[in-house]
Amino acid sequence: MHHIDDLRSAPHPILGKIWFVGAGPGDPELITVKGRKLLEQAGAVLFAGSLVDQAATFYAPADCIIRDSKDMTLEEMTDWLVEQAQHHETVVRLQTGDPGLYGALIEMTRPLTAEGIRWAVVPGVSSAMASMAAAGESMTLPEVTQSVILTRVEGRTPMPPGEDLASLAAHHTTLCIFLSITLLHKVETGLRAAGWPENAPMLVVHKASWPGQERIVRGTLADIKQRCREAGIVSQAMIVASPTLGASDWPDLVRSKLYDPTFTHRFRKAIA
Ligand code: SAH
Repeated sequence: MHHIDDLRSAPHPILGKIWFVGAGPGDPELITVKGRKLLEQAGAVLFAGSLVDQAATFYAPADCIIRDSKDMTLEEMTDWLVEQAQHHETVVRLQTGDPGLYGALIEMTRPLTAEGIRWAVVPGVSSAMASMAAAGESMTLPEVTQSVILTRVEGRTPMPPGEDLASLAAHHTTLCIFLSITLLHKVETGLRAAGWPENAPMLVVHKASWPGQERIVRGTLADIKQRCREAGIVSQAMIVASPTLGASDWPDLVRSKLYDPTFTHRFRKAIA
């Protein structure tokens, strides 16, 4: 029979919770308030390479265990998170942008669920949003496009059937193209196959929102590759092709119904 003191002195495993937190696009101030609070109380943080280290070191407590996942496999990451959750109430996996976009989220959460470990996701500002914000552009414009496609071109990860850029670009919506700056020639081929004209405006943003490092390159389908080459942009860049680009300088613009004085909506009565 156990004496009560034996039970008390037995090691008591903490059952911590693992938070997949979106760090935002790079600027440490673009993390959410909730994400920042979790970092401030974290016992351990696993951050995704150089893309988010600043936010981690800014907000995590001095005694927090901070580890870079750059050289780890998915299995090693999961094992590390599980191990830390046995020592800390709050464990953070800090991901760039939003964790649900090209973040291997499900690959990491499935083993946690299988082991009965609690986890949750805190969304983040995606680099797609930050890139458009940097350039002062809008993803949607009335009667121009009301849809946005977040995609990539095929690299080592194959594209599922029907998702080749030529098919997606045929909609002539805003296209935010991730992970493809070294494959700009494929982007161009896809847009041309979908009938985008050579003078279609394009935007490339390198390190959107990174203080002092952000670079914005504007061009057209015909010259964007050359302009990126001249600017030396080879990584961490968002490619945007959109019929909305440059709208600030258009002579005519269809007014958004939301701010049209003759349009009544929930918050405002129309002027008769
Ligand atoms: N989850 C991230 C995307 C990760 S995939 C998000 O929501 O933003 C990595 C790709 O995201 C890069 O190849 C690049 O296309 C884009 N990216 C990430 N951070 C960026 C930034 N600060 N500026 C421009 N593009 C960025």
